[in-house]
Amino acid sequence: MSASRRQFLNAGAAVGAATVAACASPGPSGAAGPKVLFGQAPVTVPVVGRDEQFQVRRIYCVGRNYAAHAREMGSDPTREPPFFFQKPTDAIQVVPPGVTVDHPYPPITKNYHYEIELVACLGKGGRNVTAAQALDMVFGYAAGLDMTRRDLQRAMGDQKKPWEVGKSFDKSAVISHIHPATMTGHLAKGAIWLKVNGNVKQNANLNQMTWNVAEQIANLSTFYELFPGDIIYSGTPENVGPVVRGDVMTGHVEGIYDISVKVV
Ligand code: MN
Repeated sequence: MSASRRQFLNAGAAVGAATVAACASPGPSGAAGPKVLFGQAPVTVPVVGRDEQFQVRRIYCVGRNYAAHAREMGSDPTREPPFFFQKPTDAIQVVPPGVTVDHPYPPITKNYHYEIELVACLGKGGRNVTAAQALDMVFGYAAGLDMTRRDLQRAMGDQKKPWEVGKSFDKSAVISHIHPATMTGHLAKGAIWLKVNGNVKQNANLNQMTWNVAEQIANLSTFYELFPGDIIYSGTPENVGPVVRGDVMTGHVEGIYDISVKVV
């Protein structure tokens, strides 16, 4: 490739990047950005007690963050550093209070699992923050389900391939409305459970996390610059298991209303 051709391509890439950034961040004035093809509505989650909705920027998830769950997944639950994966932002499925939301059984899988989790929702960003600073970044909390195509996750992991298809798919990030931390306080202990058709499946306490929310944020901020709108699924306790069409999952996180989801 000639030098001039390379310069041309680099310039094009720079323009493209600037355009994308402008689309993602229209700015505080709300001024119209560039004309875009196939424009998408922002992904938002209602906030309890507020008119404004929370716009989701990125969905991070913590893996194996309760020792007993690490053991059931075949891992050594010693305090290895937390690890993270992401789901696409548009995987969000909001579950309002007092209703049971239909959740489609996803394609390909034959072993579809629930994972009840506390979700921390950031209102401030930062990088290389300390655990002592981290909770100041948390705007609020939600109850979530990190839905998982377990058979695909395992098959890909066994082949040392990315387990993307097991975790990142449509509607795989189920979430309640967000409760501001000003209402709930910071959630560090209390019951977290999941029932299927009224039968308790998962039942633990938030204080059993290997890495608490502040430590998760601090560690994550060494890998990525964090921004307002980022949310973190903080890991699930033991006794994950399958659901099939017709099952109703009820999820509870202390301080948050219970979420109800029917697999259809
Ligand atoms: Mn999970």
